[in-house]
Amino acid sequence: MSVRVRFAPSPTGKLHVGNARTALVNWLFARAVKGTFILRFDDTDAQRSEARYADSIRDDLLWLGLSWNENEYHQSARLSLYAQAAEKLEKAGRLYPCYETVEELDLQRKVQLARHQPPVYNRAALRLSDADKQRLEAEGRKPHWRFRLEHRKVEWNDRIRGHAAIDAASLSDPVLIRADGVPLYTLSSVVDDVDLHVTHVIRGEDHVTNTVSQIQIFEALGAKAPEFAHLALLVGREGEGLSKRIGSLSLESLRDEGIEAMAVNSLLARLGSAKPIEPFRSLEALDAGFNLHDFGRAPARFDPAELRALSSAVLHRYEFSDVEHRLTALGLTGTTPEFWLAIRGNLERLTDARDWWSVTAGAIAPVIDDPGFATTAASLLPEEPWDESTWTMWTSAVRAATGRKGKELYMPLRRALTAREQGPELKALLPMIGRVRAAARLSGKEA
Ligand code: GLU
Repeated sequence: MSVRVRFAPSPTGKLHVGNARTALVNWLFARAVKGTFILRFDDTDAQRSEARYADSIRDDLLWLGLSWNENEYHQSARLSLYAQAAEKLEKAGRLYPCYETVEELDLQRKVQLARHQPPVYNRAALRLSDADKQRLEAEGRKPHWRFRLEHRKVEWNDRIRGHAAIDAASLSDPVLIRADGVPLYTLSSVVDDVDLHVTHVIRGEDHVTNTVSQIQIFEALGAKAPEFAHLALLVGREGEGLSKRIGSLSLESLRDEGIEAMAVNSLLARLGSAKPIEPFRSLEALDAGFNLHDFGRAPARFDPAELRALSSAVLHRYEFSDVEHRLTALGLTGTTPEFWLAIRGNLERLTDARDWWSVTAGAIAPVIDDPGFATTAASLLPEEPWDESTWTMWTSAVRAATGRKGKELYMPLRRALTAREQGPELKALLPMIGRVRAAARLSGKEA
């Protein structure tokens, strides 16, 4: 059976590094075995789900290069499937109506906690007679529906956590249908995983208790549960939860900051795994040898500084073909492989390429320290054509004529030719700057 996985965000907010990691791991897992990666929007909650969030999640996934194989699915368009499943569960005696209000449930939990009891739903609704239910409905109460868990151990072989065994008696019967009739994720996800033939559910370990309930729901619906893998959560550098700073870690904010998508991929694919974190130029390169077993159970520490460093490292590895279209999109027309190879090692962000483009192909205001020296240097510029040997030839002549050497020789030339204190090697830049521009800059003219 071919592997089918899904990334199932709720479109109630922007994608952040935590859920991007889940998407990436699913994508890489599918990719490694030529499986199918599905995008499913868990949007049964019409109040909280918004089209603009679905749009931004889609944009972010595409930015990362994580495209999906089938038309995306929306749970909001599949409500009849969940209603059918609910009916089946009710007939089987596994779905029962409950009438407690939120306040009553809250109070119940407080009492349990005060008595040092686990705050598990007491199943009072199971003891209601038909007459009780009629009375409650006559009072205007609308039922929500809970799944009756079988109080037994649920076991599975987690692809990341290993053998898992959790007693369902330690959990509350999960609510599957809200009082307004809206099915909740715990049910709709199982129905879709069955209907879409999902073979592996890979998600964060915050879903482990859902898995206990959901395995029983799969079984109650007569379906075989898929395999499960729960990724340890991402935490901050000091081990703190990421959620507090989630805003600053949205993919949109990283992109706006100029972080490379491949840096995000390179970091998130390896964080919390046994493999080292390295800068990768492409998902294809990253994908080689991907294995879920490499992930460990310990929380993975996410450090934005590490991401920034990785982003520069990724840029420094790109070939011209990786970035040509993006340079053009930045408005740099006519860039060449030579230009890219000369400057890439000096970039923190791709947009920094603009500065070097104006140095080699545009106009800059030169910085002249000593006009006499600059004039002499200009008079010694060799005739074109120029290549990488021109710089050495020229500076030897300038050294011989002026007696300057080392910094004294090179810095004034760098400042005149580039208006900057540092940057790519001048032997690579000089042929691109060309004789006309070089001569003009040495005479102090903006060129
Ligand atoms: N919509 C759920 C979430 O975003 C999906 C969890 C799952 O993968 O089953 O947490």
